[in-house]
Amino acid sequence: MRVRGILRETLEFILSVANSSHPNEFIALLEAEEEVIKDLIFLPGTATSDSLALMRLEMMPLGMKVAGTVHSHPSPPPVPSDEDLFTFSKIGGVHIIVAHPYDMKSWRCYNSSGKEIPLKVLEEEP
Ligand SMILES: [Zn+2]
Repeated sequence: MRVRGILRETLEFILSVANSSHPNEFIALLEAEEEVIKDLIFLPGTATSDSLALMRLEMMPLGMKVAGTVHSHPSPPPVPSDEDLFTFSKIGGVHIIVAHPYDMKSWRCYNSSGKEIPLKVLEEEP
């Protein structure tokens, strides 16, 4: 799925969830509509731990348009671990990592190969 950006409101929500989960890690799926990331999906049974690899993909609703994943790193930097890279390659799409202190400068976006890519922050459309 092609993604052209994320809604500012959604990004702010991600940062606030990361902040309230701290010092635990949080993990969710990204849902996009018309190529814009607008929503998070929290999978039931997802363990909060240090590894995105623990995400229970079998809990993913069928037919869901998964644009990628988001997870937090309670200890910076927002750089994918080996386990993260494995998960990125399995799921495809775009992958956001938000690192402590979870502000507008402490997040990065990666493609499924783990290469850092730009992600536009879009204002809500009228
Ligand atoms: Zn990670």
